[in-house]
Amino acid sequence: MTNPPAFYWLDGRLHRADHAPASIFEHGLHYGTGVFEGIRAYDTADGPAIFRLDAHLDRLQRGADALGLAVDTAALARGCATTLRANGHRAAYLRPIAWFSGPGLGLDVGPLRSRQAVATLPWTSHLGEGAVDRGIALRTSSMRRNSRWSIPPLKLTGAYVNGILAKKEATDHGFDEALFLDADGLVCECTGENVLCVLDGRLVAVEHPDALPGITRDTLIALTGAEARPVRAEELAGADEIFVVGTSAEVTPVTRLDGRALRVGPATRELAALYQDVVHGRAEAHRGWLTPVDPALPGEAAWGGLLADAGRC
Ligand code: PMP
Repeated sequence: MTNPPAFYWLDGRLHRADHAPASIFEHGLHYGTGVFEGIRAYDTADGPAIFRLDAHLDRLQRGADALGLAVDTAALARGCATTLRANGHRAAYLRPIAWFSGPGLGLDVGPLRSRQAVATLPWTSHLGEGAVDRGIALRTSSMRRNSRWSIPPLKLTGAYVNGILAKKEATDHGFDEALFLDADGLVCECTGENVLCVLDGRLVAVEHPDALPGITRDTLIALTGAEARPVRAEELAGADEIFVVGTSAEVTPVTRLDGRALRVGPATRELAALYQDVVHGRAEAHRGWLTPVDPALPGEAAWGGLLADAGRC
């Protein structure tokens, strides 16, 4: 049984989860001037381990650079391990986040200071319990994904309002998730996942310059040699199999695209199983993607109260 989070990490220290030190003047609260990551830790045979931590923190750094936000990714890496241990989580979703704080609410972020935090949650897929087995219904959105010419496709907090609105439209119509197309009819991505499909028997990873460069997509391309290329909406509509991939969603089959029902095909099943082997450290060649978190180090949760991060990772 996974423990609910008792602690989070902020600016180098652990805090009790019920303690909220943020001010109403946090710049990130008003304007979405922050960057975050969604990472998973898995319970492997060698203990808890974080999957592709470096790739996630590199992407967070790129988002921070785009905003001109100072981040310390080494400290965030320590914060991830410290928070997992403090919460007693062997498997969890990790949420590192950095944002502009005060002083001031002007739009020039130059003078602002940054803050950074990590929360860990006993979370399964954001697409819902069992979505990985059951599959999801995807609805083509009437909205467009943020264009890269407006906001870079990185995990900038404010950019997620785009996906939240599209997701709302999809769920209001009884679907699980929204699919973004661009103005030329090319498939972009979903609100929290990239799209892969089987076209004429070949595995294809949808490529689009407005889509988030997903780490799960990258993992699956590395594992399978899937072809990465632009895909037209009509091609996707006729695909043999469709599935969406992401850190939280893992490999989730699409069983409905608008009016069309799809089966969960053999490639989807095979890749979902392969992905589980890799993230759980059962694929020897890919153990390097896992960062072990030694749960035997002092159990911060047992100490209680406000604790300094002693820099253990
Ligand atoms: N697209 C968007 C918009 C996302 O938020 C996510 C989740 N991070 C993904 C794709 C999948 O990315 P990843 O595999 O790195 O989690």
